[in-house]
Amino acid sequence: MTGIADSYDIVIVGGRVAGSAAALALSRHGYRTLLLERAAMPSDTLSTHFIWPDGVAALKRLDVLDEVRASGVPEIHYFQSWDGEDRLVADLVEIDGVDFGLCPRRTVLDGILFRRAAEAPGVEARDHARVTGLLRDDARITGVECEIDGERQQVRAELVIGADGRNSRVAREVGAELSDVMPAGRYWYYGYFENATPPEPEDAFIVSSGERDFIGSTRTNDGLQMVLYGAFNDDFDEFRQDHEKHYTERVMAHPVGGQLLADARLVSQVSGIAGIEGYYRQAHGPGWALVGDAVHQKDPIAGRGVNEALRGAEWLADALADGIADARLEGYAERLRASTWPKYKLAHIVARSDLYRTDAQGELLGERLVSNAALTEFMRLWYDDRRTFDEYFAPAGTALAVAED
Ligand SMILES: Cc1cc2nc3c(=O)[nH]c(=O)nc-3n(C[C@H](O)[C@H](O)[C@H](O)COP(=O)(O)OP(=O)(O)OC[C@H]3O[C@@H](n4cnc5c(N)ncnc54)[C@H](O)[C@@H]3O)c2cc1C
Repeated sequence: MTGIADSYDIVIVGGRVAGSAAALALSRHGYRTLLLERAAMPSDTLSTHFIWPDGVAALKRLDVLDEVRASGVPEIHYFQSWDGEDRLVADLVEIDGVDFGLCPRRTVLDGILFRRAAEAPGVEARDHARVTGLLRDDARITGVECEIDGERQQVRAELVIGADGRNSRVAREVGAELSDVMPAGRYWYYGYFENATPPEPEDAFIVSSGERDFIGSTRTNDGLQMVLYGAFNDDFDEFRQDHEKHYTERVMAHPVGGQLLADARLVSQVSGIAGIEGYYRQAHGPGWALVGDAVHQKDPIAGRGVNEALRGAEWLADALADGIADARLEGYAERLRASTWPKYKLAHIVARSDLYRTDAQGELLGERLVSNAALTEFMRLWYDDRRTFDEYFAPAGTALAVAED
């Protein structure tokens, strides 16, 4: 016996950031929701995990922020941008009453979200629960087939939400259309260090940009320093031959990396991925909707996926506040696009400036990014919806170097 009912208002497939946040937010509207996650929870996943102020504000609205902070993850108030030995320091500005970022380990963040969703009124949550197919009535999705602890069951629902990540089974089964694809441009590897010595101010997200590579680093739980390394993907075959050695050498080759890790010790394995394709997928259809990476993804250099998953879950729940209807889901799709599109364009030009940034945009950045205040303003493009790519780059033209179609 699986112990779950035969029907719910909503079934959510995938129980990490997007799925658990959606279950929590939907619970406030009185829905009976089934949340199914195939992995054991809590557990880790392949991802670094910096959350900008807008994502932290979403955690606050979901009423889980206090618990996330109680895990001991420090507040991050600054952004240090290094170019060789030179650097600028930006403040993180306030969004919805939050003026700091956080970098909680995914085991911590996803574990809290999943447990809190499981405790929310109207939500039934199961881990070790894999969705194996969708139920249909003509073109409409009417539920899921799942396997929980080896038991198979069919569950009917008015709406099935795919929060099942970039390889979304829900998206595949409904044939969600793909658009605006950005081919993977960089490979990404990361690890955790103890006894790191970050330059002042210590409560900063530190980046160092080389011509073809990048490091991003900040404090996470247990006093550890997370260090992410990303490089143009044309030398990936060489890098992967001995990824830990290359990762360590190349991080240390950045002056700030050498300073940061001079006395540090790597205390984790170095994990990574060959590259992440950017895309949008059709956000909804009859009886289904997608959220989180299932609907949209950017290059990890943007550090936005967790943020968009949390906020997307809220936008989806807002759209369903007065009932489930296809027309309301269109409002969700429009809100998602409006907030994420400017940041998607930004991800293109920072992930692969050689492919997507026009010369005029490069010159504009060179002229503008000369003070801490100017960097503070530029960084708002990452997390403040009131600042948009088109507005910022207007004097240099807002197109990407590669034609958008
Ligand atoms: C190297 C790297 C670094 C990153 N760094 C950052 C960062 O610093 N900041 C940031 O904001 N984002 C970052 N991201 C992006 C971030 O990891 C994702 O955007 C985020 O995990 C998306 O959350 P999600 O809940 O949509 O999907 P996921 O985290 O992928 O969760 C989907 C869940 O669905 C479950 N699932 C899948 N299929 C089924 C099924 N059939 N039945 C049941 N369950 C299923 C999976 O087990 C999984 O747990 C990074 C990504 C990478 C790869």
